[in-house]
Amino acid sequence: SSMIYADNAATTKLDKDALEAMIPWLQDEYGNASQPYSFSRKPKKALAEARALIASCIGAQPEEIFFTSGGTESDNWAIKGLLQYGDFRDTITSQIEHHAILQACQAIERLGYPVTYLPVNQQGGVTSEALSRIITDNTKLVSVMMANNEIGTVEPIEELARIAHAHGALIHTDAVQAVGHIPIDVNALGVDLLSASAHKFNGPKGIGFLYIRRGTSIHPFADGGAQEFGMRAGTENVAAIVGALKKNCDHMVEIGARLHKLEQVFLGTLQQAGIDFVRNGSENRVPGNISISIRGASGEMLLHRLDLKGIAISTGSACDSVNPQVSHVIQAIGVPNEYAEGTIRVSFGRDNQVEEARDVANAIICILNSKL
Ligand code: PLP
Repeated sequence: SSMIYADNAATTKLDKDALEAMIPWLQDEYGNASQPYSFSRKPKKALAEARALIASCIGAQPEEIFFTSGGTESDNWAIKGLLQYGDFRDTITSQIEHHAILQACQAIERLGYPVTYLPVNQQGGVTSEALSRIITDNTKLVSVMMANNEIGTVEPIEELARIAHAHGALIHTDAVQAVGHIPIDVNALGVDLLSASAHKFNGPKGIGFLYIRRGTSIHPFADGGAQEFGMRAGTENVAAIVGALKKNCDHMVEIGARLHKLEQVFLGTLQQAGIDFVRNGSENRVPGNISISIRGASGEMLLHRLDLKGIAISTGSACDSVNPQVSHVIQAIGVPNEYAEGTIRVSFGRDNQVEEARDVANAIICILNSKL
C-alpha cells in the first residue's frame, strides 16, 4: 500500500519480532501462568523474563513493574490508588495532561478530593517555579507527564520530583509518550510512579505497566487473584506481556537521530514553500513529534484532505479527534487564534522514510495552495 502513516504518537506498528515472540503464548503454550503444574512453568518463566527486561529498560527492579491494560489504566491507578478515606490532601497535576489523567482527577474531585491544575509556559513546560508557588506540605501527589502527546514537550521531571519530595509528596509521571523513545531511569528521575503503554513503542495494544517504587503505599488496582504481586488481579496476558519487548530501548538514540532528520525535511519543505506556521512545544521534545499551527488553516480540513490522499496524521491526540475544537493543550500554551485552528500533529516513527516526510509536507502545501 502507498499509504503514509504519520500518526505514531497515536499508536505504532507492532514489531515483527514482537509478533513472532507472542504467537507461542497464544497457541501451544496457553497455560495459566499462575498454576503450579509443569505446563504453566514456561509461561511463568516468560512472564518473569519480560518483567525483568522491561524493568531494566527504565532502571527499575522487576518487582516494581505491575502489568496493566495500558496507559489509561496505569494513570487511573496512580491517581485513584492513593486515595485514603479522610485524607483530603491536594493532588497537583498540569493543564496539559492526557485525558486519562485529567478525567481521573475530575473523578476524584467529584468525590471531594482537591486537585490543582498547574498552568504551563508557552512551550508547554511545567516549570519548577510554577510548582513551587502552589505546592504545600499538604500536597499528597504531583502528577506531571514526562512527554506531552500533542506537542512532544519533555517536562523537567527530575526537578519537579525534588520539589515534590521536599514537601513530603509523591510524584507520578505519565511516561506513555516517552518510554521506548527517550532514555528513562526511574532512579535518576526520582519518580515514585510511572505509567507506560506498549503500543506506543511498537508493542501490542492493551498492555502497559505502572512502575511503583518499592515501599510506596498504594491500593491494588483490582482485587481477586494473587497476580501482579496481589496488586492487579486477573489472569496474565502472557502473549502481550512478552510482546512488550524493550526492543526500542536498545536503539533509541539511533532512531531519534533519524527522526530528527525527518523533522528537518518536513519543516524545511513547508518553510521553503512560504507556509506561515508556528511549531509548538519546546526544543526538548520526543523525537518525531511535530505539532504545527498554520495561520488561517483548518486542522480538521487538513486531516480529512490528507486522508483522501492516503496520509494519516492527527489534529492533536487520538482522543480529541472526535472533538473538533482547539485542544486543551493548544489553548494552555496560548497559540494565537489565527493559528490555533490550523493545528496538526505529524508524528513520524521508526518505519517512516525521509521521502515520506517530504511527501507529507508537499501534500499539505498542495492542499493549502488549492484552498487559499
Ligand atoms: N497518556 C498519554 C500521554 C497518551 O499519549 C496516551 C495514549 O494516547 C495514554 C496516556 C493512554 O494510553 P493507552 O492508549 O495505552 O490507554
